[in-house]
Amino acid sequence: MQPPLKQAHGARIEFYNKTGKIHPRTTSGRFNTLRWSMVWLTQIVFYGLCWLPWGDRQAVLFDIAERKFYLFGLVLWPQDAMLLAVMLIVAATGLFFATALAGRVFCGFACPQTVYTAVFRWVEAKVEGDHLARMRLDQSAPGMRKFALKATKHAIWLTIALWTSITFVGYFTPIRELLARMLPGELGPWEAFWVFFYAAFTYLLAGFAREMVCMHMCPYSRFQGVMGDPDTRNVSYDTRRGEPRGALSRRQAKGAAAQGDCIDCGLCVQVCPTGIDIRQGLQYACINCGLCIDACDEVMTRIKAPTGLIRFASERELAASAAPARPRPALLRPRVQVYLATLVAFSAAGVVMLAERTPLAVDVLRDRHALLRIDDDGRIENDYLLKVANMLEQPRRFRLQVAGPADVRLAGRDVFEASAGSITTLSVSVSGVADPSLRGSQPIHFTVEDLDTPTTRAVEKSSFLLPMGLPGAGS
Ligand code: SF4
Ligand code: SF4
Repeated sequence: MQPPLKQAHGARIEFYNKTGKIHPRTTSGRFNTLRWSMVWLTQIVFYGLCWLPWGDRQAVLFDIAERKFYLFGLVLWPQDAMLLAVMLIVAATGLFFATALAGRVFCGFACPQTVYTAVFRWVEAKVEGDHLARMRLDQSAPGMRKFALKATKHAIWLTIALWTSITFVGYFTPIRELLARMLPGELGPWEAFWVFFYAAFTYLLAGFAREMVCMHMCPYSRFQGVMGDPDTRNVSYDTRRGEPRGALSRRQAKGAAAQGDCIDCGLCVQVCPTGIDIRQGLQYACINCGLCIDACDEVMTRIKAPTGLIRFASERELAASAAPARPRPALLRPRVQVYLATLVAFSAAGVVMLAERTPLAVDVLRDRHALLRIDDDGRIENDYLLKVANMLEQPRRFRLQVAGPADVRLAGRDVFEASAGSITTLSVSVSGVADPSLRGSQPIHFTVEDLDTPTTRAVEKSSFLLPMGLPGAGS
């Protein structure tokens, strides 16, 4: 239950329940293995991907200065904002889909906060010892040993935080260049700010805030409930089987039939990284990491009871009078169907957009200074500024064409070259006949065509301005 924010006179405002530092006990089992596999997988990808070369550049780079997003062979430009939006929608829908199936499972296995908290806790355990040794150390009086252990831990934490931060910034500015500029005074002010900001962020969140982020700062924990349904499988304690709980000695004395399977050993609470007791029911602080399942399964095996007293189970399954209730197939659940359909639809839209993407964009601006002029042959001329984006990483030759009424044609050359991944600016004059039947603004369009692959073309509309009355003619 959340404490009220109301403040008695002179009392301090408490924004959240303080639980004290949690030192979870180490456990082993299939969920622990899966969790550490995910830590390895996500960190190998995160720390490694920014070092991968692609030709003469970094394979994955969000180049903010150049406003380009390099993703292996694909280069996304600001013109591809829709494609980026579709990618984000696919990622969000994927998260909703996973939540509908297995609750907060992303938090337990792939969320950066959980992953870095696990890494920082692992370092803490290596330096200070197991959970009991850590608790004893925290309560011990200050001394050289305590200082040395704490200093070592914080030094390792800071090193990890700094490397994480350099890696993160290395996805926005080429990491090799960034590292070469890490000497004092060589880093640009923004790079220096972000490197130290993210280092401090990682150090504080993974070293100190830890489960508080999951419980009190992360909005996902608050609205994940609306993504699930009674068939969503969350880590749950089977009350029917476990209660009445009691010590093992009582169970042995009374017999297993007179008592539930829970021997009240408390191991499920001791291993929980957020420090909760899953036997009290589904809680927003539970990140579905499954470590309590590992701990309890081990206990059940030891007392020769069936495993699964704590397991991934749905509300419907646990509420059913006959145990175990058959879980409803996921594809028959409306919520899962909606998320899956949205996921498939947006993924397909993304694939189609990618397949039909033209790596060429044109922007046309009319010259606002001179609306029109009349040349020596009596033709009307309008001036334009064309910006042609060559979105491929190779130089290309283009042909420019113009079409529209009044026999419009280009006044200058129509073939030009554009260097790799560049925006070429062209000043273009278009002339047309002073047709007495046409007056004022007339629609025209420019076509830019790749000379090597003529199917690659971009068309942009503009307007051609004719006089409101012919020169010399009476009104
Ligand atoms: S680990 Fe299992 S047996 Fe032990 S307290 Fe938790 S639920 Fe009960
Ligand atoms: S209750 Fe179990 S699944 Fe939930 S956070 Fe704690 S250990 Fe993980």
